[in-house]
Amino acid sequence: METCSLCEEQSKKTRRGNPHQYLIKVDEARIFKGVNPRGFEEQDYLCMTCHAKFTRSTGKNGLAWTLWQG
Ligand SMILES: [Zn+2]
Repeated sequence: METCSLCEEQSKKTRRGNPHQYLIKVDEARIFKGVNPRGFEEQDYLCMTCHAKFTRSTGKNGLAWTLWQG
């Protein structure tokens, strides 16, 4: 399925921006456990329109959105 226009826009919101209206939360936020954890969280989102999956990370540099290509 093609990525909808809202998700296209969402993927460009690297630093800021709230989830668009058809993005729903998947599971609970989790604490990122990396090599050098600094206490930031990750939250998965799923688009109800095109089923694209995003992960939003919160960290020192603000928010980051990652789009997972199906
Ligand atoms: Zn979408």
